[in-house]
Amino acid sequence: RPVSLPVALSHTSYDILIGTDLLKRAGALLAPLLPQKKAVIITDSNVETLYLERLQNSLSETGITFRTHVVMPGEASKSFKTFESIIDSILEDGIERKTAIIALGGGVVGDLAGFIAASTLRGLPFVQIPTTLLSQVDSSVGGKTGINTRWGKNLVGAFCQPLTVLADVSTLQTLPARELKAGYAEIVKAGLIGSRRLFRWCELNGKAVLEGNTEAQTEAVRQACAFKTEVVAADEREQQASNGRALLNLGHTFGHALEAEMGYDGRLLHGEAVSVGMQLACALSVRLGLCSAADYERLTAHLHALEMPAHVRDLPYSFSARTLITHMQRDKKMQDGKLSFVLLRGIGEAFTSRDIDDHLVHEVLTEDG
Ligand code: NAD
Ligand code: ZN
Repeated sequence: RPVSLPVALSHTSYDILIGTDLLKRAGALLAPLLPQKKAVIITDSNVETLYLERLQNSLSETGITFRTHVVMPGEASKSFKTFESIIDSILEDGIERKTAIIALGGGVVGDLAGFIAASTLRGLPFVQIPTTLLSQVDSSVGGKTGINTRWGKNLVGAFCQPLTVLADVSTLQTLPARELKAGYAEIVKAGLIGSRRLFRWCELNGKAVLEGNTEAQTEAVRQACAFKTEVVAADEREQQASNGRALLNLGHTFGHALEAEMGYDGRLLHGEAVSVGMQLACALSVRLGLCSAADYERLTAHLHALEMPAHVRDLPYSFSARTLITHMQRDKKMQDGKLSFVLLRGIGEAFTSRDIDDHLVHEVLTEDG
């Protein structure tokens, strides 16, 4: 039986189901939830080869009919072009208002399909079947969907809450090790932000998660989703004065700068940038006298134990501190001319700071590079 994690939001509630072999049971799990036994599956060509048939067979067994749209793998598919071409063919096929959109794939497919669901006929039912660790612990939770523009990533989109999320950890067996680690970084992030207990759990079980132990993976996904849904429920649309959702950006101001400098060309994975970014945020916190050096060492030790990048110098590319800061200043998290960061008082205690001096950031980057 899958683990069921209830998500209660102001206008809707649903369950995130986590476990093994959920794809094989997708038809039975979805049939009671779909308003009509019709669906449009959106996936990418890698996931198509690996898992599409499993999903299609299971839908067919329960009498759910479907059409399928396959996009190219990779960030480039989160584009106006792909968005338009899929909507075009969905409309050409003749879609009904109660037909569900099913996203089968990683965060790219989830973000694209979710935005298609949110906007086609002003909103179609939506189901997420995330197949990467990153999408299971992060992108499928919280309702943010969207595409990229020439002016930056994720600048056009909508909130779209799913009818359910099926996180089948069996699909992680085929995920490349680097992608697995990149997703794992977001779990460590959750622990750093708000749960020393989750961080401790990671120290004890992280290796099992990365080695493909499905019980450990189920528990990791459950804990990370529970953490994120709690944060999201408290600040659904990023409008709360407390702005709890902003804490989820721990490591992302640094991380996005690293990604931007690489030109988002896929050589550096988002999770790898975040892994280093968290360590830099922690270093900055130590520098400001907010966080203990012991917690900093503990974070480095954990990342290195799992052969994940912790320092800028762990990455196979070189970066200039000056250029990275320029990227940060262009980032949308810049407020009133000052750099904004999520910082740590220690493992499990994050907060937002809006008043950080460039010089300090420069020093931290220089020491780490
Ligand atoms: P991705 O969707 O590109 O997947 C990574 C690669 O793994 C792809 O090549 C894909 O084809 C392949 N793949 C997927 N499942 C597989 C499997 N089971 N076995 C083997 N290969 C598989 O990338 P991602 O890391 O899942 O997601 C990144 C995207 O998520 C970014 O676009 C990012 O902006 C977005 N994101 C969104 C949110 C949100 O809140 N909406 C949060 C975080 C990230
Ligand atoms: Zn992230």
